Amino acid sequence: MGNILIVAEIQKGKLREATLELASFANKVAGARGGEVKSLVIGSGIGELASELAGKGGGEVFAADDAALANYNVDAWTQAIRAGVEASGADLVLISNTPTGWDVAPRIGAALDAGFVSDCFNIEADDGLTLLRRIFNGKLDARIKVNADVVVATMQPGATAAYEGTSDGKVTDLSVDLSGVRSKFIEEKQAEATGVDLTKADIIVSGGRGLGAPEKFKEVIQPLAEALGGAMGASRPVVDAGWLDHPYQVGSSGQVVTPKLYIACGISGAIQHLVGMKGSNFIVAINKDADAPIFEVADVGIVADLFEVVPALTDAIKAAKG
Ligand SMILES: Cc1cc2nc3c(=O)[nH]c(=O)nc-3n(C[C@H](O)[C@H](O)[C@H](O)COP(=O)(O)OP(=O)(O)OC[C@H]3O[C@@H](n4cnc5c(N)ncnc54)[C@H](O)[C@@H]3O)c2cc1C
Repeated sequence: MGNILIVAEIQKGKLREATLELASFANKVAGARGGEVKSLVIGSGIGELASELAGKGGGEVFAADDAALANYNVDAWTQAIRAGVEASGADLVLISNTPTGWDVAPRIGAALDAGFVSDCFNIEADDGLTLLRRIFNGKLDARIKVNADVVVATMQPGATAAYEGTSDGKVTDLSVDLSGVRSKFIEEKQAEATGVDLTKADIIVSGGRGLGAPEKFKEVIQPLAEALGGAMGASRPVVDAGWLDHPYQVGSSGQVVTPKLYIACGISGAIQHLVGMKGSNFIVAINKDADAPIFEVADVGIVADLFEVVPALTDAIKAAKG
């Protein structure tokens, strides 16, 4: 049985939470089918982070530590991951379904002539390896068995909890041949700050496509958010349509939020949205479709027209506050 290789990501000098979630998946698979968990950390001056991962379920951690790897570069990462797969003896490579993962995972899949499955939310390993991903807008789960010697999978951030145990893996230096790298890093541009940080909000009132028009955020969602002293959030179609900027987006390709109170208005509850908010302490869902999946994670579900319920709620809160 081959080993499992986690490809770690570093964000703002720390291991990404999504990397520790990969450690959960990897340890689960190793427990069920055998093989060892190994990890790969890529960057410059990453010794401490590699040791941290070795202690948090990453098993033996290969550290590709090179000044030339200080900034993300897809060519260089492909080379590093190739070297990591070879050194680790992995037949399963786990990469987070993040912008970095979207960029590098298909390349490494092609470079290794591996089977590639993107955007998975679970892995089962009791009866061969089965990767689960949602299809048809979250309405069906596809269970995928890959007929290939090596499998590369990207896993949705937030689909499982971060690995909570401890481990005593060792760190092994990994040298990477970067001579064939054809692209070079020029500069990193930070997106303009909007002042919105939903990850710190205690209360979020989110609107979805059910709002029907951009001005409804101002007319319906914003007053409730203000009455509660909370922030506004949104589902992805709303952001894709340009009604709100990306920092407002909750979900797998937006923010993962854990407020005390999350109110979802006119949001169906597709898995990509749920992974971003299901960790909220208390969830209220308002949707006129009683079968909407959002109700499966809601503590309180209101089957009704949001244009009736939300203004009434706003008025009641304002009245209660005096
Ligand atoms: C790779 C990938 C990444 C993605 N990332 C994200 C992400 O980060 N975040 C995200 O949200 N989505 C994401 N999505 C999209 C996701 O799959 C869904 O398409 C999206 O979440 C649906 O948004 P919605 O619930 O607003 O719209 P819909 O699914 O169209 O739902 C609208 C809901 O509003 C209800 N409604 C309509 N009118 C009213 C009314 N008057 N009163 C009450 N209820 C009403 C309807 O019953 C319906 O349930 C991603 C998809 C992919 C493929």
